[in-house]
Amino acid sequence: MADATATARDAIRRLHRAPEPDVLAPLLRDAALDSDSRIRVETRARAMLAELRAAQSRGWVNQFLQEYRLNTQEGVALLSLAEAFLRVPDPETADSLIADKLGEGDWRSHKGKSHSGLVNSATWGLVIGRALVSESDEASALKRLIGRVGEPFVRQAVGGAMRMMGEIFVMGRTIDEAIERMRKRENRGFTASFDMLGEAARTLPDAARYFAAYEGAIRAVGAAAGEGHSISVKLSALHPRYEVAQYEGCVPALVEKVEVLATMAANLGIGLTIDAEESERLEMSLDIIGKVAGLPALEGWDGLGMAVQAYGKRCRPTIAWADALGARTGRRIAVRLVKGAYWDTEIKRTQEQGLPDYPLFTRKAATDVSYLACARDMLAARHIYPAFATHNALTVATLLEWADDSRDFEFQRLHGMGEGLYETMVREQGYHTRIYAPVGGHRDLLAYLVRRLLENGANSSFVHQLADENLTDDQILADPVAKIVAVGGTRHPSIPLPANLFAPERPNSEGIDLNDRPELKRVAGIVAGKLEWQPAVTSAGDHPEACRREAKQAVDRALAGFASWAGRAVDERAACLERLADLLERDRDTLMRIAVQEAKKTIADALAEVREAVDFCRYYAARGRAGLAPIELPGPTGERNVLRMEGRGVFVCIAPWNFPLAIFLGQVSAALVTGNTVIAKPAPQTPEIAAYAVGLAHGAGVPEDALILAAGGPDMGAALVEDPRIAGIAFTGSTATAKRIARTLVADDAEEGPGRPIIPFIAETGGINAMIVDSTALPEQVVQDVVTSAFRSAGQRCSALRLLVLQEDVAARTLEMLEGAMDTLVVGDPADPATDVGPVIDRGAHDRLMEYRAAQQNSWLKTVETPAEGLYVPPTLISIPAIEDLRKEWFGPLLHVTTWRAGELAETVRRVNASGFGLTMGLHSRIARAAEAVEVAATVGNLYVNRSMIGAIVGSQPFGGEGLSGTGPKAGGPHYLPRFCAERVTSTDTTSAGGNATLLSLEDVSF
Ligand SMILES: Cc1cc2nc3c(=O)[nH]c(=O)nc-3n(C[C@H](O)[C@H](O)[C@H](O)COP(=O)(O)OP(=O)(O)OC[C@H]3O[C@@H](n4cnc5c(N)ncnc54)[C@H](O)[C@@H]3O)c2cc1C
Repeated sequence: MADATATARDAIRRLHRAPEPDVLAPLLRDAALDSDSRIRVETRARAMLAELRAAQSRGWVNQFLQEYRLNTQEGVALLSLAEAFLRVPDPETADSLIADKLGEGDWRSHKGKSHSGLVNSATWGLVIGRALVSESDEASALKRLIGRVGEPFVRQAVGGAMRMMGEIFVMGRTIDEAIERMRKRENRGFTASFDMLGEAARTLPDAARYFAAYEGAIRAVGAAAGEGHSISVKLSALHPRYEVAQYEGCVPALVEKVEVLATMAANLGIGLTIDAEESERLEMSLDIIGKVAGLPALEGWDGLGMAVQAYGKRCRPTIAWADALGARTGRRIAVRLVKGAYWDTEIKRTQEQGLPDYPLFTRKAATDVSYLACARDMLAARHIYPAFATHNALTVATLLEWADDSRDFEFQRLHGMGEGLYETMVREQGYHTRIYAPVGGHRDLLAYLVRRLLENGANSSFVHQLADENLTDDQILADPVAKIVAVGGTRHPSIPLPANLFAPERPNSEGIDLNDRPELKRVAGIVAGKLEWQPAVTSAGDHPEACRREAKQAVDRALAGFASWAGRAVDERAACLERLADLLERDRDTLMRIAVQEAKKTIADALAEVREAVDFCRYYAARGRAGLAPIELPGPTGERNVLRMEGRGVFVCIAPWNFPLAIFLGQVSAALVTGNTVIAKPAPQTPEIAAYAVGLAHGAGVPEDALILAAGGPDMGAALVEDPRIAGIAFTGSTATAKRIARTLVADDAEEGPGRPIIPFIAETGGINAMIVDSTALPEQVVQDVVTSAFRSAGQRCSALRLLVLQEDVAARTLEMLEGAMDTLVVGDPADPATDVGPVIDRGAHDRLMEYRAAQQNSWLKTVETPAEGLYVPPTLISIPAIEDLRKEWFGPLLHVTTWRAGELAETVRRVNASGFGLTMGLHSRIARAAEAVEVAATVGNLYVNRSMIGAIVGSQPFGGEGLSGTGPKAGGPHYLPRFCAERVTSTDTTSAGGNATLLSLEDVSF
């Protein structure tokens, strides 16, 4: 008989992205209540609502949260202020942040609205605060009035308020403080599960710090074992690379760490529960928990626990797995059933990755249904000790109905939430309730705090609805089963499947779930395999004469093919591109293999490459259909004016090696759909993927004389550009080559006669891309985005970050974290899924970068190990004294870093602009006005705020620079296609045949 844990794992895999109605159907059956039960549950829940409301009206913070909900501008402003304020070290930026956030709200409208005097006085504080930080006459008067206290007063008041908010959600700054607080009257009868705050570790030292904190906490809780407390552990805090791609490294390391912690906990007789995190980590976490549960040293210990998320489609089999694991290892596993804390992030991520369906439910009521059905499973399971974590009175009332007289389970709530729900049950009815109690300093609480505030503020959340005076109790207690039955279990209509994200314009490109281990292994096997396809790339090599001959023949053919291709309807040309997109998806594995082997792309980059190419084809097809139809223009009566967008002739498309498929096909598909014939020259380093793509295009119906591949190096490029018969050029590459092309285009000026026409030249070139970081930014997020932007693709993207400009007040801390994060980078074979940074493209690039890097050795802040063999350039952090000291683009994983002074943001942007390049810029700041100011001042094509600077998405982030970085128009944007077109207008005098018949036959109109 198959092991029950294995059967459950199979079911987990099957349900991962299954259609929502299919997953919900069996859950609905088990979550349903018969009518008598439903009446009892509702009665009980109504009583709880009353108790909850009474409790909530007691706390001023509860009232504060009710007054400032997240659906008000003021609520959002306070949330952003709370998230950032406590980490800002310098007064100047703190004041700007306050001014920014208080400036956003209409605080006066909240005056005197709350039932709580404290909330009303806090509102007064905000009204005065806003006035103080604004620049009005009123503010000056007020400032004079308050005199010397002025802004420091506001800063102190806001700081105090934010700290108080922190205390609401955090049990103590240290574990001892937290244990002590649990002894207070307000917590009488409750136990706690302590969690050491700090979200995911970014560096090994961070992970070590968290590990030590957990050890300390277990010791302290163990010393008070009689009080029944336990510990909650986040695996992402224990390892900086807790990722599926790093499975081989992180899983054994985490098993080892959890084993140490669990053994300590077991010896001290306390429980330890592993928190549930993002859905992509579920299977890894089960592997870890499974291994730890099987350790002989922990035999017979009932304290091992795990959290399971009901919003996940895999919740039910995960519970079955826990039960089977308990049976196999002869213990009860403590399962904490939660609904799940990462819903919004998960939805976004699935859309970005273009995956077939969501791993979680899209309607709140579906999560409730899943919760109830899974709770029922848990109550019936023999090897699970159930812990129900919820603040929802209806959920609690239903569980009490099902549990009947049993007390062999517990409820759990978060510290600072659900007050009033459990007190009577705990103190008068013998139920056990545990408080999840975060422990940590203010700096660590922010990410956690934001999640809690979001939870309190979301429209769909129970605690939010409880506070909403517009909702009746009937509405709040509506049966989730009935809600889901009413919609047939279907997905939420506002959350389209990722494939339909751009509907109706076009389908989104399909992704691969690289966080699915078997799928990742399959892909890794494919990209490492031998290339079966042998391209028939002919190239004239480096002989200028041969190149000229070949180029001439290509232009001859493309000219010959022009009339027929241009004569086809745009619909027909667009359909060819759409077929090409489908073929690219059909052959995605092969294309990824060539991208990895020829262009040295990592697996994730290779996938992104194919997806972008697909998106380009579909996007330009759609834009062509929508934008190239003839336009009838207005004019005087008696004439007809029509504007037509037509192909210009032969376009030469010159693509780079760093996006050998995406940019290659982006240029080609734009030129084709507009009716041009195309000679496509790939980079000499990457002819194979280009040849494959051209083969697919021909297979999709593009005639062979409408798209001609001209492989070769600079001589071939020069020969094509020199041909005076070509009608346009699309080029992506270095600024120096772009300038050479521009010179060639006017080189015949001195000759007799008119010479060649001036033709469109669309150039995308390089950049000295800077990211500016101020002291309100979240260092963990900055570091992650810096590592991605500077080192992913070995820094070989035009958009890559070259210059990090840190506000000096936070430079040391950010650099320390960045250096630690660099230590965790894996440099190696791009076909290995674990690799973050592969080799650079060729020997020439390698030697240039290494020589420059060596020359900068005295300024290295950090560098990392690479394999001895191969064209690897170690990711390196190079300090430079000033922005002006970087004047050249170094196309590799070399990141320069310098600082700027608070208050000099505009000047800093001006200095960055002064390089003359204008491709990408990044800004990390929580101050909206800073983002607005940079948006106005930055002369770049693409500005990225609070995110990484790479990975522009076709149609969402049109890409391309200005100044030394390119001519525009932007690739993947709405203005790209017209540049490839000749605009022709025909004006016809419709009266010339003898009179204005239309005018004369106008109907009479009555007035
Ligand atoms: C003791 C304790 C421990 C916790 N540990 C974890 C943990 O380890 N991991 C973790 O992820 N969370 C954890 N949480 C957080 C928990 O996920 C949230 O507090 C919980 O989801 C809130 O549920 P509720 O029943 O209190 O409120 P409700 O208002 O009834 O439910 C809100 C929840 O519904 C879900 N939801 C909201 N909108 C939608 C939608 N459109 N479609 C589908 N679902 C939706 C979300 O999960 C949301 O959090 C823990 C909570 C507690 C109380």
